[in-house]
Amino acid sequence: MHSLIINYKKNLYSEEFKCFDESIVINNRYYSVNLSSYGQCGIICILSDNTHYVENDKKLREYKYLMNNANDIILLLSESGEILAANKKAIETYGYTRQELLSKSVFDLRCTNKKEFVKRQLNKAIKDETEFYTEHYRKDGTSFQAEVRTIDIEIDDDKAFFSIIRNVSNRIKREEELRFLASIVENSEDAIIGQTLKGYITSWNSGAKRLYGYTKEEALGKHISLIIPQEKAEDLSEIIDCINSEIKIENYETVRITKDDKLVDVSITISPIYGLNGKLVGASSIERDITEKVKLTNNLRASQETYKLLYSSMSQGMALHEIIIDNDGQPIDYRFLDINDSYEKITGLKRKDIIGKTVLELLPEIEKYWINQFGNVALTGMPKHFENYTKVFHRYFDVYAFSPKIGQFAVLATDTTETRKKERELKEKYEELSAVYEELTATEEELRNNYSELEEAKEAADKANLAKSQFLANMSHEIRTPMNGITGVIYLLGLTELDDTQKEYIGILEHSSGVLLDVINSILDISKIEAGKFELSVKPFNLRRTLERTIKQLSIACKTKNLEISCYIDRFIQHDVIGDELRLTQVLVNLINNAVKFTEKGRITFKVKKLSQTNENIYLQFSLEDTGIGIKDEFRNDIFKKFVQQDMSYTKKYYGTGLGLAISKELVKMMNGKIWFESKCDNGSIFYFTVELLLDVNEPINSSNEELGDLEFYLNNNKRILVVEDNEINMKIAGGMIKELGYEFLSAHNGKEALQVLQNEVVDIVFMDIQMPELNGYEATQMIRKMEINEKGHIPIVAMTAYAMVGDRELCLDGGMDDYIAKPFSIDDLKNVIKKYL
Ligand code: ADP
Repeated sequence: MHSLIINYKKNLYSEEFKCFDESIVINNRYYSVNLSSYGQCGIICILSDNTHYVENDKKLREYKYLMNNANDIILLLSESGEILAANKKAIETYGYTRQELLSKSVFDLRCTNKKEFVKRQLNKAIKDETEFYTEHYRKDGTSFQAEVRTIDIEIDDDKAFFSIIRNVSNRIKREEELRFLASIVENSEDAIIGQTLKGYITSWNSGAKRLYGYTKEEALGKHISLIIPQEKAEDLSEIIDCINSEIKIENYETVRITKDDKLVDVSITISPIYGLNGKLVGASSIERDITEKVKLTNNLRASQETYKLLYSSMSQGMALHEIIIDNDGQPIDYRFLDINDSYEKITGLKRKDIIGKTVLELLPEIEKYWINQFGNVALTGMPKHFENYTKVFHRYFDVYAFSPKIGQFAVLATDTTETRKKERELKEKYEELSAVYEELTATEEELRNNYSELEEAKEAADKANLAKSQFLANMSHEIRTPMNGITGVIYLLGLTELDDTQKEYIGILEHSSGVLLDVINSILDISKIEAGKFELSVKPFNLRRTLERTIKQLSIACKTKNLEISCYIDRFIQHDVIGDELRLTQVLVNLINNAVKFTEKGRITFKVKKLSQTNENIYLQFSLEDTGIGIKDEFRNDIFKKFVQQDMSYTKKYYGTGLGLAISKELVKMMNGKIWFESKCDNGSIFYFTVELLLDVNEPINSSNEELGDLEFYLNNNKRILVVEDNEINMKIAGGMIKELGYEFLSAHNGKEALQVLQNEVVDIVFMDIQMPELNGYEATQMIRKMEINEKGHIPIVAMTAYAMVGDRELCLDGGMDDYIAKPFSIDDLKNVIKKYL
C-alpha cells in the first residue's frame, strides 16, 4: 500500500486533489483514502493506490454491459457443463429466470444425456475455432436451431467456457427455403434464367439447357442475345427497358433460337429482382416452350377457318337458334342466332333481316307444332330428322335438327326438290328398264335354249365335218386308184398306132381325165385344209426352172386360145431357194388356168418381182394380168370363198369347182404371203400373190436356165426297177411307164413275192404298194431292211399309195421307205423320183 500523508490545511483543496467516491484520483490513478487525525490540527490521510481494482471493476462492468446487451446468447459454462453465468438474451430466449438457468447445465438446454458427445463437440469446435449447429430447447418445450461458438477460458485456474449461441432458426428456415427454391428452379420444366440489368446471364437451370441446348457453363456470363434470333432483335431492348423500369412482362409470346439454330416458340414471364437493400439488381425470366401450343393454336385457327369456310360454302342451309321458354320451361318461340350462305339462298331470307329476331316476329303464322318440335330438340338434346315441303318456297327440304348446346338447336336443311325430281325420273326409268330387263331375261332364256341347241348342232356339224373329211379322203383314194388305171391306159394307148379318129378320142379322154384329176386333187386339198392336216413340204429347188416350166405351160395354154403372152421376171432373183415347189406351182397354175379360162381375146401378162431379200430369205410378188371378163364388184368379197363362182347357172360356160382360189389363198398364207386382185367387170383382172422363200445358201448360185433334157434318163437303161403291186392294171401302167423311160421292169404282186425277187435278182429301185395281200408294203419293207443288214446294201424303196393325206409320207419313211409317190402318178412324177435315186 502506498501511503501518503498530506498537510490537509495547506493543500486540501488544491487543484490536483479530487475526491472520487471513496477514492481520490490523482494523476489518473485511483487511491482509497483513509483519514485519521494527526494531533490537534492535522489529519493523516493514507492513500492506497487501487487503480488496478478500480479499472478491473470498470472493465467488468463494461463486459457485463456488453454481455447483457449482446444480441447472441452468452453462457459461461463450467468444464462439466454447468451454467455459471448467462446474459439477458439467454434468459429471454430460454424463458427461465436467472436462478433457474444457473441451476441447469448445457445438457438440459439440449435435452440430451449424451454428455460425452456434447463435450467432444465443444472441444472440437474450440480446437478448430469453428461453430457447430444443434437444437436448443426452451422452458416451454419449444426449440430453436442454435449456432454455437465456444471459447475456453480459465477462471482462478479452473477451466471454463464461453458459449455464444445464436438462434439461427430463421436463417436456416430461409436457407432451406432457398434450397427448396433452388431445387424448384433447377427442376422446373420451364427454362428459368437470371439476368443482370444489362442482360448478362447469371443463372441457367436445366430447363434452359433443355430448351436452348446450351449448358450452364456455356450460358453463364453470356449476353441474353445468345438466344434471341435476329428477327426478334427488338425484343432485347424492350426487355432491358422493361427490367430497368421495373415492369413485369407476363406471358409474352415470342420466338427464341437454340444452340443448333432452331427457332422455338416461347412464352416469357420476366420479373425484376431486388437486392437486400431493395435495389433493383436484375430480372428472372421464366421461358416456356409453346411450340406445341402454337401448332395447336394454328391448327385450331386453320380448322376454325376451314369450318367457317365449310359452314359458309356447304350446300346445305344451316341455321342456329336459341329457344325461348316460358316460366314453366315450355318452348314458346325461338330466336335466330346465325345462318349460313346456303340458308340465305334456299330461303331467300337475309341474314341482316333475321339475326336476333324470333320466329314469331318473322313468321307469326308459324304453327306451334314446329316450336314444340324444335324446343324438344334444344331442351332434350335428341336430334330429329324429317322431310318437309315448304309452301312458302315451293320446295322440298330434308331437315336435320340437332342441339349443339342445351337451349339451342341448329337446323341443317338440304334442298331435295331437284333430287326428288331426279328420283322420280329415275324411278320411271327404272320401271322402264325393269320392263326391258324382263324382256331381256326372257330373250336370254330363249337364247340359252337356242345356244344349247346350237352347241348340239355344232357338235353334230363337227362330227359331220370330220366324217366328211374322212369320206373325202377315202373317196379320193378310191377314185385315184381307178384313175391311175385310166390315165395310165390313155398314156399307153397314145403310144400305140392309132388312126386320126382314135387319136382325137384319146385327146378327149386325156383332157377329161386331166380335169377329173384336177377336181379330185382340189377336193382332197380342201378337205386336208379343213381338217387342219395340210402341211407344206419344204425342199431346196431351182426357182428359175420352176418359172420356165410355168411359162411353158402358160404359153401352151395361150396358144390354144390364141392369146398373146408377156413375161417379166426380175433379173435379180436368186434362184436356189427352199420352199414347197409343188404348192407354189399349184397356185401359179391355178391363176394361169383362170386367166386363160376367163379370157377370150387379148393378152396374159405374167410378172415376178423381188420385193425384198435378206441373208436368209427372199420375198417375191407374182402377178397374172388378163384381158378377160373381169370380176363384178358384188362378187369381189366372195371370190376366195370355197365353191364360189361368178357364173353359178346350170348352163354355165366355164367348168371349175370354185375351189382353186380358196386353196390358193390357204397355200399363199402358209408361205407367209397374201393373195389379192384388181379387176373391172369386162376389163380384165390382175391377180397378185406374194410368198416368202428361204435362200439355199449351200447351193452355189446357179443361174443356168437350161431345161434338163430327157437324155440323162436314157443313160440309165441298164437299171432294174421292181414294182410291187397287187392291182393288175396299175402294175401294167407302172410297167409301161418304166419301160417307156428305158429301165428294166420287174414285178411282184405282194410283199412275199417281192422278197423272193430280191433274193434272186439285182434290183436298183423298188416301187412298193402299201395295201397288199399276204405281206403288205410296210411289212415287206421291214423284211427287206433286215435282209440288208447282213448284205450291207441299201435298195431305195419308193411307196406308191393312193392315200394322199399328210402323215402318209411320214408313215412310209418311218416304215423304212426312202420316198413316196401318190397315185395316180404321171410318167414325169415317176421320172423325177427315179432320177433322185439312180
Ligand atoms: P374355179 O375357177 O374352179 O371356178 P376359182 O376359185 O379358181 O374356181 O375361181 C372362182 C371364181 O372366180 C371363178 O369361177 C370365176 O368366176 C372367178 N375368177 C377367177 N379368176 C378369174 C379371172 N381371171 N377373170 C374372171 N373371173 C375369175
